[in-house]
Amino acid sequence: MNTEVPQPHTDSRLADFFTELENAVGPKAVLTASEDLAPHLQEMRGLYLGDAPCVIKPGSTEEVATVVKICARHGMAVVPQGGNTGLVGGGIPITSDKAIVLSLSRMNTVREIDTANYTMTVEAGCILQNIQMAADKADRLFPLSLGAEGTCQIGGNLSTNAGGINVLRYGNARDLVLGLEVVLPDGQIWHGLRALRKDNTGYDLKHLFVGGEGTLGIITAAVLKLFAKPRDRVTAFAAVPTPAAAVELLGRCRTISGEAVSSFELIPRIGLANSIKHVAGVTDPLDQAYDWYVLVDLVAGIEDGSLSETMMTVLEGALEEELILDATVAASETQAAALWRIREAMVEAQKHEGGSIKHDVSVPISSVPDFLERAIAAVSERIPGIRPVPFGHIGDGNIHFNLSQPVGADRANFLARWDEMNEVVHDIVVSLGGSISAEHGIGRLKVQSNAHYKSAVEIELMKKIKAALDPEGLMNPHKVVD
Ligand SMILES: Cc1cc2nc3c(=O)[nH]c(=O)nc-3n(C[C@H](O)[C@H](O)[C@H](O)COP(=O)(O)OP(=O)(O)OC[C@H]3O[C@@H](n4cnc5c(N)ncnc54)[C@H](O)[C@@H]3O)c2cc1C
Repeated sequence: MNTEVPQPHTDSRLADFFTELENAVGPKAVLTASEDLAPHLQEMRGLYLGDAPCVIKPGSTEEVATVVKICARHGMAVVPQGGNTGLVGGGIPITSDKAIVLSLSRMNTVREIDTANYTMTVEAGCILQNIQMAADKADRLFPLSLGAEGTCQIGGNLSTNAGGINVLRYGNARDLVLGLEVVLPDGQIWHGLRALRKDNTGYDLKHLFVGGEGTLGIITAAVLKLFAKPRDRVTAFAAVPTPAAAVELLGRCRTISGEAVSSFELIPRIGLANSIKHVAGVTDPLDQAYDWYVLVDLVAGIEDGSLSETMMTVLEGALEEELILDATVAASETQAAALWRIREAMVEAQKHEGGSIKHDVSVPISSVPDFLERAIAAVSERIPGIRPVPFGHIGDGNIHFNLSQPVGADRANFLARWDEMNEVVHDIVVSLGGSISAEHGIGRLKVQSNAHYKSAVEIELMKKIKAALDPEGLMNPHKVVD
């Protein structure tokens, strides 16, 4: 956690720098007033205190390239920023970074939709929800969907290889991109906006920038994959006796539906109870309380009633074999939205239960039950009364293993044990062949842990790639690899 106090930027040497920037992008696109900088320097969870002399908002790829060159001449690093919804401090510079923030928010044009090719070409600053809506208007689906979709930008989504609720069927952001346009750390533009599904002409360079968290270059535009819009969707909420039963149920849903599962989310009783207690409008969809639940979405390209039948077949069979204990199937879109509201409300609800220590981890799907058993036991042994709220994309093996403080405990004392809890949980994750960052990335928050858990060979390879593309270390410094 950063404790450095930002210094005021009164240095007159900055004047030349600002003048060059203003000449490049126009005075309105160079923000220096503290009230204009503030929203760009506040990280969502308040873990980092940001500091930068200015925020630049270029309006075109050429302007981004010019800004990068000017910064390089002045020895100033560049921190790209999208919607600033990242949860690992990746888009925030601190004082010692000597960096500006480069916001992509003005580059928000959908350049092209090619319905025959099932692709769309978008600028990096397009808000994810706007991309979804543009695709929908063209009778296509762009399936990336996550809680922050009204704010996060596609450049940020690609740079963090965002996951979300549809990964099971459509993949992560990495699986949804065909081409990229990138401004490199030396200011060159890589025009890689290919709209090809087959292209075996050497290293697939776009994948260096996807998940690169802005450390290798600035994504300015992308060609995204589109899909046929589902015509039918069925949502069910089922109580399961154990996480192992949830995994078994997932397998049945996949097999019986012919891979029609788009979402499969785990919800613990405490998560549902918190939502009911703290978020208006959330109610328990079942008659009695159970320990674990799953929220399941099936989708199909045709609407002939067969999807509902499939869901009923799965649930009835599961009920007979006690794989589920009770279930409800949404009879309307309103009911489906109410079931999803439970899932979405959990993060907000947990804030009202005092301090929480978070983990965004993944293990092979088959190891989720083992992980949960071991991790819950381990953290409970260290902090008696701790309240684990493990939830999330069990269909991808991705659990948000959040820990609420014991009732009545001191919040600060509890949060002071963040690193200790991380170590306990991450040790178990890694012993199961898992990842300490399933979705949110490394940013600044997990640089040390990543170096600890990844093999020396892998870290060395990452450093070599960073050094090859960004020898001066001016692109989002001290993030991902330090
Ligand atoms: C309520 C909520 C729910 C969330 N749910 C999910 C979820 O389900 N799945 C998930 O994966 N994440 C989730 N997140 C995390 C976050 O929304 C994602 O990481 C998102 O992809 C970040 O996009 P952004 O535009 O906000 O990026 P930012 O936060 O602005 O930046 C994130 C990183 O990308 C870099 N970056 C941004 N734009 C560019 C660019 N154009 N070129 C190069 N680098 C760039 C930044 O430097 C930084 O390192 C959630 C966050 C919130 C607040």
